[in-house]
Amino acid sequence: MFETEFLLYIACILGGGISVFIVMWSWKFEKLNQVRTELETLKRSLDEMDEQAKLIVRTDMELNRTQEELDKKISGLYALHNLSRAVSTTLQEKQIFNMVDSAYLQDLGFQKACAFLWKASEEKFVLKMQIEYFPDEIERIKKAVELDKAFYLGLIKHNKGVSSIYRKENVTAVEKIKHAFGCNTFIISCILPKEGDKGFLFVGSEEKDVVITEGDEELITVLTNQIGQGLENARLFEQTWLAHQELEKKVKERTQELTCALEEVKMLSKRKTDFVSSVSHELRTPLTSIKGYASILLAEKLGQLPPEVKARLEKINRHSDELTHMINDLLDIAHIESGKIIMKRQSYEIKAIVEKILDLFSLQLKEKQISAQLNIDASCQNIFADSRQIERVFINLIGNAMKFTPAQGTISISARNVDGQVQVDVADSGCGIPEEAQGHIFEEFYRVDNSINDQVKGSGLGLSLVKQIIQAHGGKIWLNSKENQGTTFSFTMPQSAQ
Ligand code: ADP
Repeated sequence: MFETEFLLYIACILGGGISVFIVMWSWKFEKLNQVRTELETLKRSLDEMDEQAKLIVRTDMELNRTQEELDKKISGLYALHNLSRAVSTTLQEKQIFNMVDSAYLQDLGFQKACAFLWKASEEKFVLKMQIEYFPDEIERIKKAVELDKAFYLGLIKHNKGVSSIYRKENVTAVEKIKHAFGCNTFIISCILPKEGDKGFLFVGSEEKDVVITEGDEELITVLTNQIGQGLENARLFEQTWLAHQELEKKVKERTQELTCALEEVKMLSKRKTDFVSSVSHELRTPLTSIKGYASILLAEKLGQLPPEVKARLEKINRHSDELTHMINDLLDIAHIESGKIIMKRQSYEIKAIVEKILDLFSLQLKEKQISAQLNIDASCQNIFADSRQIERVFINLIGNAMKFTPAQGTISISARNVDGQVQVDVADSGCGIPEEAQGHIFEEFYRVDNSINDQVKGSGLGLSLVKQIIQAHGGKIWLNSKENQGTTFSFTMPQSAQ
């Protein structure tokens, strides 16, 4: 009994121990599993972190590379901007190409360059610029371009660039260019001015690991566009400059011709004036004698004269007067022209002068029933002139107006202030002057070929004298006339001493 109890006791203890052990063991097992799971989670997290770290490093490297590329692009763009500005302000072909130097080229990411233009007249490509090539290399390039000129002309014709970016269609071309220009990476872009020689620019690098992007191609295209525009500007400038030179040469030649002609005209005019003045002078003396003898005979101091002889003598006397008048006019024209007559200027009332002249013509005005109107503006009452000469101006102009205006017509004399000067208009409702005659009207001895002139006497010297007098006063004279409607002669003169 005791044994059984003891065994039972032992069994109980063992059972309890075992159960405790089992419980413990299962607890530990559970814990182990838990730890394992946690370990796996941890490992996964670590792996993930590792991946993330790798990603971060990769992204950082990527970023650095992008930053580098961006820096490269920025310095390329900056170089391009400066180059474009320099090219656009240059007006000589040679200088345009000289603008592209190795510093700019480096900023654009290249070391070597050369540019060719196609000279159609010589049927060949001419080298316009080269950077960082040795003479023998250049000779090789020239030969290669000459050999392959059809290819390069094709590029120009279709405005097609080529670069070392491999594309299906350009594999052979790329290899050929690489070999010809001795560069592993390159861009060729066309230079296409609107007119004139077209060509291409090659930029390249010997380094193999340089990556050419489409962005680089665009940059070089912008540069060649600028060069093309620069060449166009240079061509236009040269054309304008040549035209300007030509014009200047012509102007010089013409000026010289005109100066010679003017000198000749001056000399001829002086000769004419001298001749007219000496002939007139010589004529005046015998004319005075003729008139003197005619007057003596007419006065019948040498005996009575039959009426027919008296009538003839009166004619001689009248014609002598006319001749003297003409000679005096001629002499005055010559003297005013040569500056021998000095205008003694003073301020005179226009109204008083005109009224005096109208009074002289009062009889004829009455006979022809011509009404004369006077219209002097309040702002310009006076004229600054030589009184004798200004009276001659009015005598001639009013006399002509009266002569060429039919009966019952009108004459008006008006004066007004125009730009600080007196402008006098002598207008009539007469026969007018044909347009083709107007340009000659102030010439000496010019008279319009019309029926009135056939009937009335005149020398054709009056207007010429008037023009000389007005010009000697610093004024101008001109006319407005319409046939059968009337004529207005206008002249300007100073209002007061200037
Ligand atoms: P003249 O009157 O002695 O012929 P002028 O030199 O004064 O010489 O005039 C030249 C010509 O101009 C005149 O013959 C006349 O044909 C023309 N002429 C001048 N004034 C007038 C006028 N007011 N109306 C029409 N014709 C005129």
